[in-house]
Amino acid sequence: MTTGRDLLSSVFGFDDFRPGQAEIVDAVTQGENTLAIMPTGGGKSLCYQLPALLRDGVTLVVSPLIALMRDQVRALQAVGVAAGALTSANTPHEIEAVFESIDAGELKLLYMAPERLSAAATLPLLRRARVSLIAVDEAHCVSQWGHDFRPDYLEIGKVRRALGVPLAAFTATADAETRDEIVARLFDGQVPRTFLRGFDRPNLHLAFAVKDHPRAQILSFAAARRGQSGIVYCATRAKTETLAQALAEAGHPACAYHAGLDPDRRREVEERFSSEDGLIVVATVAFGMGVDKPDVRWVAHADLPKSIEAYYQEIGRAGRDGAPADTLTLYGPDDIRLRRSQIDEGLAPSERKAADHGRLNALLGLAEAQGCRRSVLLRYFGEDPPPCGACDLCDRPPETFDATESVRMALSAALRTGESFGTGHLIDVLTGTATDKVRARQHDALPTFGVGRATTRAEWQAIFRQMMGRDLLRPDPERLGALRMTEAARPVLRGEEQVTLRRDTITRTAPAPARALVSDDDAPLLAALKARRRAFAEAARVPAYVVFTDRTLIEMAERRPGTLDEMARIGGVGATKLERYGAAFLEVIRGEAPDEVHPARRKLAGQASGTVYDRLVDAQAQLSRGEDGRDKPLSCSASLLARVAELGRADAARLRALLGDRRAERFGDAFLAVLRDA
Ligand code: ADP
Ligand code: ZN
Repeated sequence: MTTGRDLLSSVFGFDDFRPGQAEIVDAVTQGENTLAIMPTGGGKSLCYQLPALLRDGVTLVVSPLIALMRDQVRALQAVGVAAGALTSANTPHEIEAVFESIDAGELKLLYMAPERLSAAATLPLLRRARVSLIAVDEAHCVSQWGHDFRPDYLEIGKVRRALGVPLAAFTATADAETRDEIVARLFDGQVPRTFLRGFDRPNLHLAFAVKDHPRAQILSFAAARRGQSGIVYCATRAKTETLAQALAEAGHPACAYHAGLDPDRRREVEERFSSEDGLIVVATVAFGMGVDKPDVRWVAHADLPKSIEAYYQEIGRAGRDGAPADTLTLYGPDDIRLRRSQIDEGLAPSERKAADHGRLNALLGLAEAQGCRRSVLLRYFGEDPPPCGACDLCDRPPETFDATESVRMALSAALRTGESFGTGHLIDVLTGTATDKVRARQHDALPTFGVGRATTRAEWQAIFRQMMGRDLLRPDPERLGALRMTEAARPVLRGEEQVTLRRDTITRTAPAPARALVSDDDAPLLAALKARRRAFAEAARVPAYVVFTDRTLIEMAERRPGTLDEMARIGGVGATKLERYGAAFLEVIRGEAPDEVHPARRKLAGQASGTVYDRLVDAQAQLSRGEDGRDKPLSCSASLLARVAELGRADAARLRALLGDRRAERFGDAFLAVLRDA
């Protein structure tokens, strides 16, 4: 019987499951209702694609974005899997092909846009197609609270009930509220088998920086990564336009993307991003769910995201292929104000607003972290890992100082001025700067006036920012620009709690250089492999990663396979791709045309029978003119040898049946010896 593991290597070309995948594949294959929460890039698609191949009938895949479905269908077809999509973007010809494949009983995966689910013709079609499993990608789209809510997702529960088939739901959104809504809406409240898979993405480098000429910071980050695909997230539409232009002027291929663009233009950008190498998209959060590109090498935030979940999801779009990828998040006091006011001015009920402030606080805690950033991030998701060695704070531990006194001074300045002023005015008071405003309010007569003279203005700014980051001070939702003390600050004011702050974020630090994907020795070969990949991709009009992902090319450059067998052992090289591209990439690695390999032998590449085949060829060569070299030449065809190799065990009767008497006479014993040794 074919197992998931067999198909994992023969179809997808992966040596092993990623953590969590094996259990999910088993449960889904056995037809259990399942909910899998996995980080972006954790490999969710495989968890329904493999079961789809192992099960009878068709697996219906519901996914929110057409571009994403198209990419997946293309990638599946590239590894020889019968998959099709029914979306509004199909040409009549494509639709016909899907229907033919359904009627021929060949189709294994049918991708469908959610808006199609409610059409009258859909249920009969799904029945006719013998849909035996429903897989729901981005299942959090059923949640009304999430920013990704899709009303059409509410249809999925009805379709499941009508068809009476198991359902597997996948999402990267972890919070309990969303999970409950998924269970209620997709599973009628019956809790499915739930898998929560670790949230670490070890290949992502994490870094935050305080804004200091932010445009220059982004430009230098991009410059250090020239030629690599990246995403820059901005808080506003206008900023995506100006930053995209600045990047273009610096010589990068870059375009803006936001919800205000017309749909055609958006599709065009999505299409370019997925098919071009090295494009930078400067976007609002509207750009995201459609990004299924595994080789995004970096993500930068030009502004602070709105919550720790949003941060995690957005950086997660980098490095899905598992190869190293870099992230940088810029933030400053204005970001904190903006995000707070967005929550306060929203329409959500008050307990929801409190929860949103909490999520923002978690992100600010991460921004102002004093120890390993990844540990802080993962602790939020309930894990407790040791320092990672792959974040800015592990690279360069921050300098901290006891800021209790300064924080108390700042709090008292805020209180004594009636909690009605912003940072600028409070710093004037603390540093004893008698501005007109200070004099007009008689704040120069306060006992706090000038108590903070020993500290520079820049230092005070960093202190205030960190106090806002720790939610000791919060912008007053009622009074623009005013800072209020929070409950969390009381123990500090009363002298019951110490505060340690970072000093280093005051002074400018150079951004970390981009990490190289491979060593200097392997870099030229990697470039050559990429060039060959581009040629294939252009010829087939598919994105480069559909040919091979960066990770696969990196492994080729490092391990330098010399034969098709070795090539087959590279991650991401399955049977179909080996057949299609193996020889061409070997040629690049060897710098010459490889030996002609018989197709029958090529089919066995990477399997134990491949080695057996080679030994049979040797044995046959020694006996081609008999024991003593005087008989008439005799040989077996390559396909016959392949069948012998695939016998798998030394069975004399079956061997004789395969070879026929004449050949069995000459080669039988030698072949049996080879099979016995295997
Ligand atoms: P997501 O969980 O974000 O949907 P995908 O399913 O797109 O992630 O997978 C991300 C990348 O990881 C893809 O390029 C996929 O081919 C790769 N991948 C998935 N499973 C494995 C595996 N077991 N071994 C190696 N690569 C894998
Ligand atoms: Zn770390």
